[in-house]
Amino acid sequence: MRKKIVAGNWKMNTLPAEGVELAKGVAAGKSSVCECVNFIVCPPFTHLSQVVETLKGSGIAVGAQNCAAEAKGAYTGEVAASMIAALGCEYVILGHSERRQYYGETSETLNRKMEQAYANNLAPIYCVGENLEEREAGKHFDVVKAQIEEVVYNLTEEQFAKLVIAYEPVWAIGTGKTATAEQAQEIHAYIRKVLAEKFGAAAENTAILYGGSCKPSNAAEIFAKEDVDGGLIGGAALKAEDFLAIGKGFEA
Ligand code: PEP
Repeated sequence: MRKKIVAGNWKMNTLPAEGVELAKGVAAGKSSVCECVNFIVCPPFTHLSQVVETLKGSGIAVGAQNCAAEAKGAYTGEVAASMIAALGCEYVILGHSERRQYYGETSETLNRKMEQAYANNLAPIYCVGENLEEREAGKHFDVVKAQIEEVVYNLTEEQFAKLVIAYEPVWAIGTGKTATAEQAQEIHAYIRKVLAEKFGAAAENTAILYGGSCKPSNAAEIFAKEDVDGGLIGGAALKAEDFLAIGKGFEA
């Protein structure tokens, strides 16, 4: 049985007090959602610590949205994976399209970030996905294949067992445009096949999340697909009620 995961990427939103309130709201409503759902929240660095404290004992895990490619040292403004782990975080989002697009993250950087994450016992949520031009040119399969081969294929079997993948078509992120459930299933099944080519049967256990304007009204249909194991949620993760309602997509 694969893990069902609903992860919230808060991006650069919420002040510390707002983040704590949001986390409290998610924790308060969690019992209304199937116990089978693993919730993760990924606040900004500035309040990771407070959110970890707030969620202690709630069963909700906390992740960071990024980590440095180096272990420590003279890297002004960076945050090391060891620092994130020391706060009690369990996950780190790596390779989000906004980081690839605005901060020039390449597979080379991401390989080093992955190494740091694993060295500090953080499970990466590795994001892949094509942009609109690539989708329209029918290149989406090749794009995600390359993103996986260049980074995930470098993992050991032990590391791979902890990996979460998020398929996020760039054209659907924050645009209100969602991939259809069929489009999501098609590419998730393809991603699993690409993973299986390297890791064999272990790919059956990998949670592959869908991300891109996922909301309470479309989550159930998307999550019902065989190879969709949950969602990485941006905008809708900023309201506890909506985030929880997305989790309820698993009960439909
Ligand atoms: C994201 O950026 O991870 C995301 C899925 O955003 P949104 O849900 O807002 O499209």
